[in-house]
Amino acid sequence: MSGPTTSRSSLENEPKRPVAAAANAREPMNVLIVGVGGQGVIMVSKALAWLAQSKGFEVKQSEVHGMAKRGGTVFSHVRFGPQVWSPTIPKGEADILVALEWAEGLRWLPYLKAGSGIFICDTKRIVPPFSCLNRRPGAPLRYSRETPSEVRTHVGEGYAIDATRMAEELGNERVANVVLIGALSTALDFSVAEWENALTQFVPKKTVAANLEAFRLGREWIDTARKATPEAEAPVERIRTPADAPYSVRVEITPEWCKSCDICVKICPERCLRLNSERIAELAEPAKCTGCRLCEFLCPDFAIRVHLDAAIDQEGAKA
Ligand code: SF4
Ligand code: SF4
Repeated sequence: MSGPTTSRSSLENEPKRPVAAAANAREPMNVLIVGVGGQGVIMVSKALAWLAQSKGFEVKQSEVHGMAKRGGTVFSHVRFGPQVWSPTIPKGEADILVALEWAEGLRWLPYLKAGSGIFICDTKRIVPPFSCLNRRPGAPLRYSRETPSEVRTHVGEGYAIDATRMAEELGNERVANVVLIGALSTALDFSVAEWENALTQFVPKKTVAANLEAFRLGREWIDTARKATPEAEAPVERIRTPADAPYSVRVEITPEWCKSCDICVKICPERCLRLNSERIAELAEPAKCTGCRLCEFLCPDFAIRVHLDAAIDQEGAKA
């Protein structure tokens, strides 16, 4: 994804800080954060709840993260204001929906306030296992097909942000959730210094610099998006498959992230992965790899990336 996306409603009302007023009114501010296991939903939720509490608001937070493995839905409700009675946000009452994964964002859209809700969503697509049942090379994936343009017609203000790519460019895919916090921060009336202080409470000490940079990028991205025209939008990440051939396959495994679970080894249709003597996944037979990406989709620890290099180049040429 090459550029920002924005909605016309956000352009007409710039600068828009709708939450600031609401948080000081009688009604609590409702922020729903959703994603899948391993993406850092709970960290976003905790940082926001901590920050709101530090500013004197009453805060209620609830979360469901039964599936720690990648592919399981994780969501968290954060409500804050002068007084909050219930920890859960009723359907249609979320002021802001922050989604760390595209399909999860769409799934939770009914919780957003009609007409005024703000939708901030990573275009990252994590295809769940049930969409990969057909392991034949080139088989189509079952996954949502809605585009950002279609989604924006249903929300008050909508942003499809390629946070994962931005985090990758910072050298750490795992700070994508903080890129989204940066985007979220532009809709809430807390200062940059307060956000940065909150972040430093919840990220590992050695990644503070990367996380603060990710936060800054998220804020800047929203500012740029508010000034962009709808025509400047880029499409949501398209999932490339072997059907996009010709392509060359490159399987990238990050050993430090591999937890030796063996899932990729068992799921690979071509049996070209194995655990080495240190029980870290490795590509044993690269010539057999078709680039189906099942190992990437199903690794619970994001340790595998499959690059279909020629297809990417072709798409870039088309753009
Ligand atoms: S690469 Fe991922 S799926 Fe494969 S063994 Fe390591 S953690 Fe498990
Ligand atoms: S290594 Fe990964 S991309 Fe290659 S065939 Fe196996 S599952 Fe598919």
